[in-house]
Amino acid sequence: MKVVKFGGSSVASAEQIKKVTAIVAEDPKRKIVVVSAPGKRSKEDAKVTDLLIALGEAALQGRETEEGLRAVVGRYELIASDLDLEQEIVATIEADLQERLAMDTQNSGRFMDAIKASGEDNNAKMIAAYFQKEGMMASYVNPKDAGMVVSDEPGNARILPEAYEKLMKLREKEGTLVFPGFFGYSPEGNLVTFPRGGSDITGAILAAGIQAELYENFTDVDSVYAANPTIIDKPVEIKRMTYREMRELSYAGFSVFHDEALIPAFRNHIPVCVKNTNNPHTSGTMILAEREYALNPVIGIAADEGFSTIYVRKYLMNREVGFGRKLLEILEDAGLSYEHIPSGIDDTSVILRQSQLTLEIEQTIISRIKQELDVDDVYLERDFSMVMIVGEGMHNTVGVSARAAEALSRANINIEMINQGSSEVSLVFGIHQEDTEEAVKGLYKEFFGACVETTIQ
Ligand code: ASP
Repeated sequence: MKVVKFGGSSVASAEQIKKVTAIVAEDPKRKIVVVSAPGKRSKEDAKVTDLLIALGEAALQGRETEEGLRAVVGRYELIASDLDLEQEIVATIEADLQERLAMDTQNSGRFMDAIKASGEDNNAKMIAAYFQKEGMMASYVNPKDAGMVVSDEPGNARILPEAYEKLMKLREKEGTLVFPGFFGYSPEGNLVTFPRGGSDITGAILAAGIQAELYENFTDVDSVYAANPTIIDKPVEIKRMTYREMRELSYAGFSVFHDEALIPAFRNHIPVCVKNTNNPHTSGTMILAEREYALNPVIGIAADEGFSTIYVRKYLMNREVGFGRKLLEILEDAGLSYEHIPSGIDDTSVILRQSQLTLEIEQTIISRIKQELDVDDVYLERDFSMVMIVGEGMHNTVGVSARAAEALSRANINIEMINQGSSEVSLVFGIHQEDTEEAVKGLYKEFFGACVETTIQ
């Protein structure tokens, strides 16, 4: 059995849904079909999830909701009519949304989750109806009935271990199962969504839940590329990569997946295949537990912006027992998580995501560090990028870091920080944000510039 997930652009219009139907009908092993809410039909278009967020916020602020409601329902109306579905389904979708909008708004997180999740829920119902019309034996599955049990953290749900046993029972259901992505239910029965992009998470959980032989993730590109195609013109395609490589690259800015999305599949050793709905017969990218890396020690280059550094200097810091703990405790009290802590003898830097910092938080932590740790110097700098080169083969290939540093130096880029995790799957360079594109270009040229093939294995 396979689990197949179709992202927003794959289900954005009737034309796309017809392609999805052909893909599912072609392979009877495609048992569970996870769908996103309708996404963008063109660059300028809006995703239904974004329309729903605007609608929910209008309702929370007591503003007029009619226009927002029309915008959402309009998208389904168009798809349903182009698919020749009974218009009754549109009335059901509208009634469902009205019902959600009438919910209690006291707990805004819960209210927003209910509104957001309607995007995938109603799309799954509509697609199941279309599959049936096309003569397939198919049904919509309600995540609550199926046992998609998640933690009660609005907008940030995590799967709970007890879910897996329940989800296993989906194997016994007959026909194709159309499952809405992006949300589950808490043990108390509240609807809770995963983070944005969470339909990928649903698919990975279901693949693990039914012990699928393959998790196929259909999107709008032929494969995962070695670098961001908006920076590098026609980057090489990656044919095979490992779970760890994918995880590192998505953490560092590859937008193919939310960085935690595939973890349930990885943990259960389920192979993942990224494929293109618009070109379904190309092989795509396989993501597996292991790969042969002799030829390509480095598989990809990613970059992510928006980091800040807290720089702390104190003479003899290296001899002071408990210094690191006290420093991190101050960050913990402010609810901050950190990404890297490169250290010297008398100084250390804590690198964190800027989006967590307000001016107030910044002032509080700086003054606490000054007062409580009696440091010689402390300051915060903003607007750094983390550029990462990733590859399983790096740990037993001599000279990868030297080549990378040289490439950055050729591009006249000052390296502020270097971090190589102990796993040696990735090497991270901290640089000033304005140098990001040049850094990616320089590193790409160094590691992939000589590739004559357009694919790497
Ligand atoms: N529709 C949701 C979003 O746009 C979830 C998803 O598509 O994966 O984030």
